Amino acid sequence: ELEVALKVVIVGNGGVGKSSMIQRYCKGTFTKDYKKTIGVDFLERQIEVDGEDVRLMLWDTAGQEEFDAITKAYYRGAQACVLAFSTVDRDSFEAAHSWKLKVENECGEIPTVIVQNKIDLLDQGVVSPEEAELLARALGCRLIRTSVKEDINVAAVFRHLASKCLAE
Ligand code: GDP
Ligand code: MG
Repeated sequence: ELEVALKVVIVGNGGVGKSSMIQRYCKGTFTKDYKKTIGVDFLERQIEVDGEDVRLMLWDTAGQEEFDAITKAYYRGAQACVLAFSTVDRDSFEAAHSWKLKVENECGEIPTVIVQNKIDLLDQGVVSPEEAELLARALGCRLIRTSVKEDINVAAVFRHLASKCLAE
């Protein structure tokens, strides 16, 4: 039987929890100071979605997003996207539109989920639920709220993306 392999890119400002999310989903761990393992471009996890085996390859950056220096190689061949912002970082929320455009420029229209991470810090939140919903609607994407720290909804993000890709 054919196995489906999907390249997923995780974009968003530095510090929103992208590397942590990949590490959480693929290794089941969470640390306060995740350092990208040198030489590793992506981590992978296999899941079953709608009766199909799907191999998800989650591509991490080495922090180049902070300098607006993500290379074309990072985006090349990506079939799905996680666009993340942080509950406690207003700039990361404001930057979501431009991240969507960057991905569109490099990859065209690919299944994308908007992720509001760090919902364990909602009491210090700087983005209202309405604003987040409006953003997702404006970008035409599903919004999923996660806490990588507490392991809330992380798996749902990737199940949703895999399912969307299979349906295309
Ligand atoms: P990246 O720059 O987007 O890759 O972000 P990192 O994965 O390096 O995470 C930045 C910081 O946010 C780290 O200290 C993480 O431990 C922390 N972090 C990531 N996810 C969460 C979360 O859901 N809740 C909280 N409270 N902290 C998180
Ligand atoms: Mg990172």
